[in-house]
Amino acid sequence: MQPKSSRGKYYILDFTNMKSVRTRIAPSPTGNLHIGTARTALFNFLYAKKHGGAFVLRIEDTDRERSTKEFEKNILSGLEWLGIHWDEGPEIGSSSYRGDYAPYRQSERIFSYKKYLEKLLFEEKAFYCFHTEKELANEKKAQMESKIPVQHICTPWRDLPKRDAEKKCGAGEASIIRFKMPPTSAKEPSNYQLTFRDIIRGQVHFFARLLGDFPIAKSSVEPLYNFAVVIDDYEMQITHVIRGEDHIPNTPKQLLIAKALGWTTKNTIGDTIPPWEYVHLPLILGPDRSKLSKRHGATSVDEYRQAGYLSDTLFNFMALIGWNPGDAREKMTKEVLIKEFSLEKVQKSGAIFDTTKLDWLNGEYIRSKTSDELFEIARPYFDQAGISADAILLKRILALEQPRLKKLSELGEGIGFFFAVPEYNKELLRWKQMSDEDVAQSLKKSAECIAGMTAPFNKEVLQKLFFDMIGEGDKGAALWPLRVALSGKKSSPGPFELLEILGREVSLRRLQRALELAGATT
Ligand code: GLU
Repeated sequence: MQPKSSRGKYYILDFTNMKSVRTRIAPSPTGNLHIGTARTALFNFLYAKKHGGAFVLRIEDTDRERSTKEFEKNILSGLEWLGIHWDEGPEIGSSSYRGDYAPYRQSERIFSYKKYLEKLLFEEKAFYCFHTEKELANEKKAQMESKIPVQHICTPWRDLPKRDAEKKCGAGEASIIRFKMPPTSAKEPSNYQLTFRDIIRGQVHFFARLLGDFPIAKSSVEPLYNFAVVIDDYEMQITHVIRGEDHIPNTPKQLLIAKALGWTTKNTIGDTIPPWEYVHLPLILGPDRSKLSKRHGATSVDEYRQAGYLSDTLFNFMALIGWNPGDAREKMTKEVLIKEFSLEKVQKSGAIFDTTKLDWLNGEYIRSKTSDELFEIARPYFDQAGISADAILLKRILALEQPRLKKLSELGEGIGFFFAVPEYNKELLRWKQMSDEDVAQSLKKSAECIAGMTAPFNKEVLQKLFFDMIGEGDKGAALWPLRVALSGKKSSPGPFELLEILGREVSLRRLQRALELAGATT
């Protein structure tokens, strides 16, 4: 794709005149895929797909010390599992095609950053700073003590001629590269406000001068995030920078860098317009309305996967964190979400991570699977629980659990009793006010009913037999002790389904055991 001459002029949301949408997710591989990153990726994906555009995956691994290949792999496989497929990125199936703007790993793009860093140094829009960490820390401390804004105006180094700075570097003096906060002018007084437009938040203002001479690289081949991100977004022709609101404070720095490189324009009211739209998504909050963190429970996509949430569920659920379709719909397929998604309906305020909704939605998705589909998805959870049995039997058990199941990780605990004699407290056998004697009688009758059966041992026949036996009597008094004897659980599938799967012999043995328990004195 070739850059278009209209670049930078499309800050009005008019898609008829706009080049095609290009969004990106730019995770740093310094941890496993976080639910916040996945939600940001999803919004970028939905927006790009809605407008027939491209969704780009870029790995921001400039922090060499904290980035690892394992984390990168975890992020890629997590996004893949969620169904958030990227059109361009570091790996795209088995094809060697990676997209027109490769490479998509910052560590492989050093040549680009170097070029632009040298340009800024040459134009004296950036400079080498030789302050030691100790000097900087002292300055910060003094500013904090005097209660003045913490900022670093890098005197004298900001005015050192480039030649002299290079000499010092050549002599091995430690340095970093800083952005030279533009000198103030009549037009831009020292407290001049830098304004950027955010699709969700409208105009956001900053006092540019407060940013000081901020760092942009450790050296010409070691760019820092705020610098590299601007180069990448520009070179990759990104049209919408959609990311978490925690990046709002970085935005003026990025805007100034884009401006210094000549990539911005001005709109009619004088705002500096970068070649992309900014969209800052609301933070994800825990139920106590503080930023979602480990304290609230799982935060990585892996943890949710292991807990037995389906990828369909998470895809749908994450779309609802801070966005809604404008009506009461909650369960929506990928296609519907793409069709309905709009940035205008993204809320400004923090969005609560509603675990109750997540569980409900997961139950819905579990129920919407065919038994074969669910069995395939559930296999790893059977393995995890150490349950290995004939696939036909497992499928039958799964079908029984399907209507009540919320998470696949509950399977092990939920169906263990089919394979091992359950342990339970004898009190559980009691239905309402039944006496011990009543419980024992009930269990005895059930055992007799089953033992005397000649007809096929299936749930329809069993149900008829038991209902005939109970007649006008209390169903609970007959069926509760039976069901508990078979399952050892307060809630489980119904007694006839359990009898059919467990079979006559196992069922009789369990009833016998329950009888012994009921008769035993506590
Ligand atoms: N690497 C940054 C992060 O993981 C991306 C920031 C951005 O999207 O600009 O938060």
